[in-house]
Amino acid sequence: VIEQGLPDRAVVTTCAYCGVGCSFRAEMQGETLVRMVPWKGGKANRGHSCVKGRFAWGYASHPDRILTPMVRARIDDPWCEVSWEEALAFTASRFRAIQAAHGKGAIGGITSSRCTNEETFLVQKLIRAVFGTNNVDTCARVCHAPTGYGLKTTFGTSAGTQDFDSVAAADVVVVIGASPTDGHPVFASRLKKRLRAGATLIVIDPRRTDMVKSPHIRAAHHLALRPGTNVAVLTAMAHVIVTEGLVDAGFVAERCEADAYADWADFVAEPRHAPEAVERLTGVPAAELRAAARAYATGVNGAIYYGLGVTEHSQGSTAVMAIANLAMATGNIGRPGVGVNPLRGQNNVQGSCDMGSFPHELPGYRHVGDAAARAAFETAWGVPLDAEPGLRLPNMLDAALDGSFRGLYLQGQDLLQSDPDTRHVAAALAAMDCVVVQDLFLNETASYAHVFLPGATFLEKDGTFTNAERRINRVRRVMAPRAGLADWQVTQRLANAMGADWAYEHPAQIMEEIAATTPAFAGVTYDLLEREGSVQWPCTDSAPGGTPVMHAGEFVRGKGRFVITDYIPTEERTGPRFPMLLTTGRILSQYNVGAQTRRTANVAWHDEDLLEIHPHDAEQRGIAEYDLVRLASRSGETTLRATLSERVAQGVVYTTFHHPGTQANVVTTDLSDWATNCPEYKVTAVQVSRANGP
Ligand code: SF4
Repeated sequence: VIEQGLPDRAVVTTCAYCGVGCSFRAEMQGETLVRMVPWKGGKANRGHSCVKGRFAWGYASHPDRILTPMVRARIDDPWCEVSWEEALAFTASRFRAIQAAHGKGAIGGITSSRCTNEETFLVQKLIRAVFGTNNVDTCARVCHAPTGYGLKTTFGTSAGTQDFDSVAAADVVVVIGASPTDGHPVFASRLKKRLRAGATLIVIDPRRTDMVKSPHIRAAHHLALRPGTNVAVLTAMAHVIVTEGLVDAGFVAERCEADAYADWADFVAEPRHAPEAVERLTGVPAAELRAAARAYATGVNGAIYYGLGVTEHSQGSTAVMAIANLAMATGNIGRPGVGVNPLRGQNNVQGSCDMGSFPHELPGYRHVGDAAARAAFETAWGVPLDAEPGLRLPNMLDAALDGSFRGLYLQGQDLLQSDPDTRHVAAALAAMDCVVVQDLFLNETASYAHVFLPGATFLEKDGTFTNAERRINRVRRVMAPRAGLADWQVTQRLANAMGADWAYEHPAQIMEEIAATTPAFAGVTYDLLEREGSVQWPCTDSAPGGTPVMHAGEFVRGKGRFVITDYIPTEERTGPRFPMLLTTGRILSQYNVGAQTRRTANVAWHDEDLLEIHPHDAEQRGIAEYDLVRLASRSGETTLRATLSERVAQGVVYTTFHHPGTQANVVTTDLSDWATNCPEYKVTAVQVSRANGP
């Protein structure tokens, strides 16, 4: 693994940006990283990379890094630099005092999809076994929680069905609510290669992304739906498939629950779900919708890839289940070239979910009320565990405002910038007695923190990330942690400061514990990963090297379950005051809230977030290219510069959120998915006007 060669040595590790999980050779001169070179042996990327993984690693040595722990009694006090021991003793004593006064459930924590599986496992273990509560949640709450709910309900497990290689066998590809070129660039290249070779592409997206039309790529169908109408469009596609006799009856009879299918088929066949009936609502011409549904259903292999444009809605979970329904109805599950594939945003969002980061689920997606599952962890950890689900992140924030939740351990998530309704988040954080931020930089949330614990970059630790295709990739320490400790060591020390006696010496030992307690990870060891390069869970007796395609022969839950997906409009409505709809997304060179990429040369490609507005709407408002505009909603307002673009339809505006000054989440609503509380970032009624200013 560690190769002696140019320049001095190279360490193979995994990119810490998106869910593709590209492998790189980190080339070193002494202790200095000089180059990241995409590694041909990486099974997720096969020697390819994008501008983030290849060039945007300079943040690791950026002078903004905080390298010394800091504490302060109150959030308006100045920070005081202290030793690790003092910082952790301070934290432990505050957490203990809160629990003594207000009960065990008055504190909790958030795991990070940026950290390794081993680190995430330890954070949820800290909260469950040491804090004694299930108040654990993850940043997946604000992105792919609906994927977890939707795919577990229909298929039996919360993960994408295919490996990336599978796309090479697809004849028809549906991309819905995703811009792979921006969010998952290396997978996008593989997808485009297949499209250039002749596969049919259907894009379902309010924006004309470059998947719709770009050099050498042209979608056969672009369903440019009105934001917030995914479920109506997907159910209308199901209507076409059922009423035009395009169902794969053999697959459904053999593989799916008969009664649930019959109820679903009756439901989608109702005339109110016909493309013609929903055309005005969705903005999608009925003939185009019918043609797309026929193309997907009649292809030999139809594959669906989706992103946050599906999940971040008040019906995010419903839309995921509507997608699963389409795949089951057409028999597009269980072989290469088909499937339902969430394009996971962060490097380890799949892993953070797998590792038990939800308040109702232990590692491996087993409910905390499952006595047998709980017993396995109680035996391993030597403590009784709570059988009641804990608080989700939004509920923690609400409880902070009524005084019943008072302490939060935040590993690697900038709540204030990334969560909706910024004012509500700020008020909740300000109401707590102990907010602990473990991060690389003094982020926006840190202004409400009492303790700052320096984090370590992916270059500074060992561990594993699990990518969007369930592939467990090794992360290898390239250099020593600049602040002295890797994140898993910080969590271990905090646990011990609160009375535990953990003694992990290396993340490999944590993986042994994961494998022993979490069936999907059974058999996964660092030795196996060294031998295989990487593996896709589950590793079973019959497939010890992993499972590229899931649900072959049988769904994880046994029979696939169709779910009725009634379209319920979002409560967010346009009107005279807020006549336009705002939707948000990402750009290739930047990553999420930009904490890392803004501290690299990549910022030159995108040094501010712009508001895309259709030229007709701009003209009506007297807005010219690069004018400063006021963007206002029922939640709040911000200003940013406009760019005129026909990528958005009239009545729709779009922006990214990579720069904190943009304050996009001051504007977004506080509405969320009915099943998971995932915020509805993708639909906000807004007013756009020319701002005074240069
Ligand atoms: Fe690969 Fe994603 Fe990293 Fe780009 S950001 S190199 S696509 S893992």
